[in-house]
Amino acid sequence: MLITHDTRCSLDAVVDLVNTAPEDDTAADGLADVAALQDFVRNHDISDVGMLSEFDLSAVRKIRGRFAGIFAAPDPRIAAGMINELVAAAGTTPRLTDHDGYDWHVHYFAPGASVADHLAADCGMALAFFVVAGEQERLRRCEAPDCRRAFVDLSRNRSRRYCDSRTCGNRLHVAAYRARRKEAAG
Ligand SMILES: [Zn+2]
Ligand SMILES: [Zn+2]
Repeated sequence: MLITHDTRCSLDAVVDLVNTAPEDDTAADGLADVAALQDFVRNHDISDVGMLSEFDLSAVRKIRGRFAGIFAAPDPRIAAGMINELVAAAGTTPRLTDHDGYDWHVHYFAPGASVADHLAADCGMALAFFVVAGEQERLRRCEAPDCRRAFVDLSRNRSRRYCDSRTCGNRLHVAAYRARRKEAAG
């Protein structure tokens, strides 16, 4: 499937956003305060969102939970329903742009949108394209039992199982190898 630069940026942003959520009650929230949200906005070049507030922080945390649900959706129909709801609530104004030397592409966020609505509109539409392309199953969560981070599988044959093959994938391989060794030795 064709993935344009903005879709790619939106995918990176939504994966990072979902993965800022604490994995359990003891873990720290990656979006603990407004400063953390400011860093997130800067790192992902999210434009025109103005001064950020506590209100923005809680709104972004709320849509983070909804995006997490989309990555966990068992089938395209459920994912589609969630995406429709998220994007409709944000409101969108599709418009063509060729900013910063990129080819023509469409932005979805409405003028003056809050950071939460900006993310819901543009990241929501980026995920929508996966449903349209019959590729919803590429929106995944890591299969390592103690990880479950979100990722988008962009491999040719949809074979990616871990958020990061060097850490999660490798960790599992090592564990399986040790178990086999132990069995052989026993
Ligand atoms: Zn753009
Ligand atoms: Zn992982």
